Amino acid sequence: MKKSLIILASPSGGGKSTVAKHLLKVFSLEFSTSATTRVKRTGEEQGREYYFVSKEEFKQMIEKEKFVEHEEIFGNQYGTLKSEIEKALVNNKKLIFDIDVNGALSLKKFYPEHSLLIFLAPPSLNILEERLRNRNTESEEQIQTRIARAKMEMERVSNFDYVIVNDELEFTLKEVESIIRKNT
Ligand code: ADP
Ligand code: 5GP
Repeated sequence: MKKSLIILASPSGGGKSTVAKHLLKVFSLEFSTSATTRVKRTGEEQGREYYFVSKEEFKQMIEKEKFVEHEEIFGNQYGTLKSEIEKALVNNKKLIFDIDVNGALSLKKFYPEHSLLIFLAPPSLNILEERLRNRNTESEEQIQTRIARAKMEMERVSNFDYVIVNDELEFTLKEVESIIRKNT
């Protein structure tokens, strides 16, 4: 069956947003914008990368059952909105997700027939650390927390449909493109 929910997961720094940006240019896809309580980074826009909400708003959204799944990651809440998915399925649109490993596995549980799970693995934890450092968006302490979590996430790769080692970016992009052409 052709899949319409393309789920990119990886440890933080694994390359999800880089790959997602590329795919949005190459294919006719829509980005599933999650809600989060984290603060907006420079360059991010309300409603584009995320719906930035307060902790109280997020709590209310949970109570109103707005989420398919939600997770606390690095002290902030992140949640996939049911409305984004329903809208896409009804309109026959393909959606791309940039979410963590637990979120990806939850989505597959709820939408097994529609989900295509792609795991972007870093070539090594050292390289992951170097990329996070070069990205320059987290403090040293935050980088260490992300590396610690990456170890747990890497143990769950066997549950994914495809695993790509994100070594040479050009190669990764071609691989992901080919997986999407084949499955969607
Ligand atoms: P994520 O969205 O998974 O947290 P990013 O897409 O932000 O990861 O990638 C983390 C950093 O690594 C970014 O600075 C990005 O430019 C860089 N990066 C991504 N893929 C590669 C690659 N294959 N080779 C070198 N650098 C990469
Ligand atoms: P960041 O703060 O760097 O944008 O994201 C931190 C982590 O949260 C990343 O691994 C990102 O993929 C993940 N994430 C973003 N949105 C969601 C979501 O809706 N659900 C889950 N489970 N993870 C998310």
